Amino acid sequence: MELIFREDAYAKSCSATVASVDERGIRLDRTVFYPNGGGQPGDTGLLRHAGGEVRIIDTVKGDGIDDVVHVPEPGSALPAPGTPVEAEIDWDRRHRHMRMHTALHLVCAVLPGASITGAQVGAERSRVDFNLPAEALDKDGIAAALNTLIAADTPVGFLWITDEELDANPDLIRTLTVKPPRGYGRVRLVDIAGVDRQPCGGTHVARLGEIGMLEVLKIENKGKQNRRVVVALKD
Ligand SMILES: [Zn+2]
Repeated sequence: MELIFREDAYAKSCSATVASVDERGIRLDRTVFYPNGGGQPGDTGLLRHAGGEVRIIDTVKGDGIDDVVHVPEPGSALPAPGTPVEAEIDWDRRHRHMRMHTALHLVCAVLPGASITGAQVGAERSRVDFNLPAEALDKDGIAAALNTLIAADTPVGFLWITDEELDANPDLIRTLTVKPPRGYGRVRLVDIAGVDRQPCGGTHVARLGEIGMLEVLKIENKGKQNRRVVVALKD
């Protein structure tokens, strides 16, 4: 399956052909729908075809590498394999996920040295959990640092490295729980010059300014060594 969002996060729709349909959902030969993973929710949207349309309520990973399953609204009439479709994501929701997801990279950047134990992107609020001792994190200081980075409007780029290069640079991995995807022979690094660089398969905005103003809603203690930073977009 061709995963268009990996090269172009701004692709809102694509023409595709139904590859298969089973109890889990619909597989296409290519897609713009991001599957739930790495803390970012799966896309929702529509598959339009000559006989009607199917609302997609979630997108999930299938069985193998690059296998993406589009989950239809229950009770939908499903297009048969071979049917041409126009696949279109709910762009407003996805764009918020892109802004939020990129913002979480910045939260990592302003807490250097802390390992990530969990993260969840949402359209309304997002959180990152860090393995940090009980010292108080400065909520206002973190918010100010985040918005300074956003105002600098640094471009968000990609670098591809081999699995061996990643193994030789374990410091690139900030997450304890999510391992970078293996099996491709190469790993995509998200590179925000001078700010953050780590393996990531999610969707991001092209420049930091596109995130807009961020708010730190709260910092919670979630256990002895776990601090949760909750952020929201200001608009
Ligand atoms: Zn990312």
